[in-house]
This record gives sequence, structure tokens and C-alpha cells, in this order.
Amino acid sequence: MKQIKYLLLFLLIISFQSFAQKNNYVILISFDGFRWDYANRGITPNIEKMRDEGVSASSFQPCFPSKTFPNHQSIITGMYIDHHGIIANDFVDPFTGEHYRLSDKKVTSQSKWYRGEPFWETAKRNGIKTASFYWPGSNLDLEYRRPDYVKKYNQNFPYYARVDTVIKWLGLPYSKRPHFITLYYSLTDTYGHRYGPDSKEENFAIAHVDSVLGYLFSKIYETGMQDSVNIILVSDHGMTNISPDRTINIEKILTGTKYFLQESGPFVLISPLSGEKEKIYNRLKENENHYKVYTKENIPAYYHYSENPFIPEIIVIAEKGWSLGTSKQIENFKLHPDKGNHGYDNHLLDMHGIFFAWGHSFKKGYRTGTILNIDVYPLLCKLFGIIPNSKIDGKLERIQYILK
Ligand code: AMP
Ligand code: ZN
Ligand code: ZN
Repeated sequence: MKQIKYLLLFLLIISFQSFAQKNNYVILISFDGFRWDYANRGITPNIEKMRDEGVSASSFQPCFPSKTFPNHQSIITGMYIDHHGIIANDFVDPFTGEHYRLSDKKVTSQSKWYRGEPFWETAKRNGIKTASFYWPGSNLDLEYRRPDYVKKYNQNFPYYARVDTVIKWLGLPYSKRPHFITLYYSLTDTYGHRYGPDSKEENFAIAHVDSVLGYLFSKIYETGMQDSVNIILVSDHGMTNISPDRTINIEKILTGTKYFLQESGPFVLISPLSGEKEKIYNRLKENENHYKVYTKENIPAYYHYSENPFIPEIIVIAEKGWSLGTSKQIENFKLHPDKGNHGYDNHLLDMHGIFFAWGHSFKKGYRTGTILNIDVYPLLCKLFGIIPNSKIDGKLERIQYILK
């Protein structure tokens, strides 16, 4: 008799769980380079709806370096950059000499670079279907490491049509329907670089991506799914003003030394040729002005940027608004100056992005402080009641209070 009671209780719990899964959809949206304060300019009525009816954070802290591919990986895996392995937008594997480049679709689809477990992989292991209308690092070459539905990246694909596809996915027969979907838009990043974070052009981009969010809301209400969909809106980093008057020529400082240099602008990574490390570090240290130089051993722990074997021996981080580079890079910058950039110290408020969460699982009108981007992955696992990959840096207890 007792056994039957337990069995009934067990079946009841299982059916509650599957009922919860059935009516539980999460759309994770990223607006690239959408700085924390863009949502306070009075030009984003749809984000304001999320703030009024859901959870809003004062800012969303990226990991160092505050760049696109590394941070989209941190959001989707819950790992610091030195743990998931996408240490920059462009970098070299020092053991094989192979290049990872965000502009090379073939390379960005090679699974071997990605050492973290993206949420869609965790979900797949748990029988949950997933889809992505773009996310850096989503279109991988191994079937089990990518979402069930995935799109090849095309920056110019129309913005509203991406939403139409998401709505179509949500209307698929139940057995085929994804429960977790990502969406991504680059415009605020592109315009932020080109015209600067305080320009009227950037305000146009902000208002435009907000209108796409409004379109998504209207479609969700039209389908009647508003009580089963959770929407999380984030960005990968912020943006700050830069100027050709604030440049530092690394090549000049390092005259007469031998090294391999990667990246430019907010930070550079230097691999000294053998025997040159001390000389190069000392030279950079003696000239330290509007930048900080670190070795992998002495970089402050708060950067979480020392453990990956691909990270070169010397890391140089510019002061906010300053740009580092070789003579050629600086010359190019002066010829075609961008107005904004990111990649600096991730604790600078200008590098922070946004976090908004709306839907049946979230508190209403709840405003909180800064949220760390590595905490989104454990939050996603909690929303679906699945066990996170054990190797993450994110912590559910730092974010769980935003749930009802
Ligand atoms: P960043 O240099 O960090 O500003 O990178 C932003 C750029 O990444 C934007 O211009 C996007 O078009 C590009 N991007 C975003 N997602 C992808 C993707 N999945 N594949 C290739 N490029 C991407
Ligand atoms: Zn970005
Ligand atoms: Zn950018």
C-alpha cells in the first residue's frame, strides 16, 4: 500500500514537471554593444516595458576582455574566458600556429576551440530542443554541440524577419518545437564603433533594435504564448569614446626587441620570442603611461585571464579611451578613426551592458544591481530544472533572487 502511495506521488511529480516544461519557453536576446545606460535615454519603450513588468539590473558585467565572441561564450557557458577558451575575437593557438578569427566562418565553426558547454548542449542532453537565430559560436561543425535549429551568420539578414522565424519555430508541432531560442543583433555595436556611443546615429540604432523587441512582444501576444514565454535581454559589453589623439605606439616602446603581437586598441597580447620576456616586460613597465602591463603570473586575479595556455605571456591593457597598437595600426586608425570601442577593463562601467528578464518566472518591477554575465547559464538551467555542467564559474545563488 505504502509503495503504491509513493508511486502515485512520483507520477504526480513527473507529470507536474512535464507540464512545467511544456509551458516553458525561453528566448535569450543579445543586442551587441548595448551599453547599460542606453536603456535610460527615453528612446526604448519596449525595454522599459521589460523594466516595468519584469526584472532589470543596473548593469551587466562582461568578462575581460570585453569583446564579442569571448563574452557571448561566457554568457552561454557560464565560464570565465580563460576557462572556455575563446580568449579574444582573434587569436593564435601557439602549439599549432592556427588562427581563430571571428571573420572566418570556417574557423569559428570548428568545435575544437570551444572548451565550454553552451546551454543548448546541456539542454540537448536533457531532451530539450533548442534553436538559434545567431549567437557567436552557435554554428559548430559537430551536430551534438549546436542547437537543433541553427542559422549561418549573415549580418545583413533583415531584423524583423529573424523574429518571424522565431515565431515560426514556436508554432512547430510539439515534438519539433524548440523551448530555448537565441536571437542576436549587431547594429548598436556597429554604430557605436562608427559614430560613438553618444551620437544621434547610435540613438537611431538603439531605437531600432528596441522596435524589433516591440515586434517580438506583439507577435508573442498574437500567438497567445505570453504566459509561457520568458524573455531575457542582454548585451555582451558596452562602448566608450576613443580618439586618434589618445594612442600608444607599442612598437616604438619595444624597439630592438623580438615578439609576436596580437590584437590592438583596448588591449594587446604579446608573445616574446625566447629570452626576451624580461626585457620586454621591463621596457613596457618603465614606459607605463595610460596603460598597464602584466605578465600572465602577475595579472590581477579579478581579470580571470591567466589560466588558458593560449593566453600569451604579456598582457597590456589601455586606460579607458586610449588605443594601443603598432605604427601601422595607429596610422590606419588615424586615417579612418572609429569613434567608439570596447575590450577594456571589464570593471569599467562604460564596458557594462544590459540585463532585463520578463515572463512568468521572473519577479515584476524588480530592480537590482550589477549582474555578472557568467551567472546567466546557471539561471537558464534553473529555468528548465536541469543540472548545470559542473565546470562552470557562474553561481545560481548570485542570481536566483530574480525568480518569483
Ligand atoms: P567586435 O569586434 O567585438 O565588436 O565584434 C562584433 C562583430 O561580430 C559584429 O560586427 C558582428 O557582425 C560580428 N558577429 C557577431 N556574431 C557573429 C557570428 N556568429 N559570426 C561572425 N561574426 C559575428
Ligand atoms: Zn560585441
Ligand atoms: Zn564591437
